Amino acid sequence: MTSTHNDPLRDLIRSTLDFYARFGWQPLTDDAIRVFEEEVREVTEAAQVGTDKNHIAEEAADVIVTLIGVCQASGVDPEQLISQIYAVIDKNNAKTHETHVYTDGKIRRRFPKTITS
Ligand SMILES: [Mg+2]
Repeated sequence: MTSTHNDPLRDLIRSTLDFYARFGWQPLTDDAIRVFEEEVREVTEAAQVGTDKNHIAEEAADVIVTLIGVCQASGVDPEQLISQIYAVIDKNNAKTHETHVYTDGKIRRRFPKTITS
């Protein structure tokens, strides 16, 4: 696959899957989760130290790449992942101070979801 550089998210997912394919590696779920957790620990440690922003960004990118591996190992279609990410973007963009509030270290829904039947 070639990189178009006009959709960085799609490019990253394609690049990651191409990388796995080049090495003939089909990630197994347990392996993919173990590698992902290692990268989460690394970015957490880098962020807690907080001094080397480049290192934090590198580790954050590793988390994203290894999360793609978790999805691949779990059989998630890349287009489904992309669609979900854009759905989150739309949801985040729709949140306002009227609908959400920052409290206890997290942005939460101001009112609980109503159940409709
Ligand atoms: Mg790393």
